[in-house]
Amino acid sequence: MKDLKDIKNRAEKEVSSARNNETIRQVFQKYLGKKGEVTLILRSLKDLPEKKRKEIGKLANAIRQELEEKITIKGRAIGAKVERNKPKKRIDFSFPGHKLTTGHLHPITQVEREVEDIFQRLGFSVIEGPEVESEWYNFDALNIPANHPARDMWDTFWLRSNQKIPISKFQIPNKSKIKNKNQNLLLRTHTSPVQVRYMEKHNPPLRIIVPGRTFRYEATDASHEINFYQVEGLMVDKKISAANMKAIMERFFEMFFRQSAKIRLRPSFFPFTEPSFEVDVRCLICGGKGCSVCSKRGWLEMAGAGMVHPQVFKSAGLNPRNWQGFAFGMGLDRLTMMKYKIDDVRLLYKGDLRFLEQF
Ligand SMILES: [Zn+2]
Repeated sequence: MKDLKDIKNRAEKEVSSARNNETIRQVFQKYLGKKGEVTLILRSLKDLPEKKRKEIGKLANAIRQELEEKITIKGRAIGAKVERNKPKKRIDFSFPGHKLTTGHLHPITQVEREVEDIFQRLGFSVIEGPEVESEWYNFDALNIPANHPARDMWDTFWLRSNQKIPISKFQIPNKSKIKNKNQNLLLRTHTSPVQVRYMEKHNPPLRIIVPGRTFRYEATDASHEINFYQVEGLMVDKKISAANMKAIMERFFEMFFRQSAKIRLRPSFFPFTEPSFEVDVRCLICGGKGCSVCSKRGWLEMAGAGMVHPQVFKSAGLNPRNWQGFAFGMGLDRLTMMKYKIDDVRLLYKGDLRFLEQF
């Protein structure tokens, strides 16, 4: 009897505080539905002794009736209210809404911004240069003369000299400033030309990184694309050594991969650095033991680097006796692939939403 009265009190409170059809429907289910509290009591009557059954049955039925009435009246009141405020077109407020899909940054852009952020914390400025470059800046100024075999390392997209390029899209090198220098235009094959461009206008000491798009005229496969993204680094001061370079790069990889990183330098050749190195990072997957990602070598090739060649300082109008520096170049595509364990570079450029939505 006490339970019933308690149920009645609760139910009445809920009915009077109900503000919409959905709530009133829920109240009905809770008390009078198939498994409602009042219904269950009515159903359990048969297990009681006769005297009790009559007594409780009477009260429970009365409560059921009363509640039914109250719910009906309240339901009508809400219905009438809905009717009064009815908009011209009927909207079903209980219908599940559409999820708003918003775009997000491409994984390479995300990685580019993270790289910029890390180097800025290490004291580097972020500099950009033109994608259409002159032959002088792309090759000659970087110690790669016209007939030098080293030039074959870069398969180049050349632009016809009378080619019209929309200025809004590319910043065309200012011809008046490069007077007698080699003026054929091309799509830059690396971000290194910006080293010379920047040093022409800024005196050391300097620390810059240059993220940007570069182009190579070559067949595409799982690890090659005709256009890709690089980040170039340059640090110049009175006394800069390969040890400084190693420390900066190690710190960068640690911050980028968010785990302790070990790097090693292997001798290599680039015309614009001397000595030159390939920079390997100890495999992030197996920690150096050897796995399929590192082809059992335990190391991953992540960057090309070296000490700035005296000829490059001269191209920029600096005296190589006064300055030392290091430079490095990394593929943003490769960094992205390593970070997210992607095994085919073409996935990054396909624009396939099934792929992109995972980032
Ligand atoms: Zn490995």
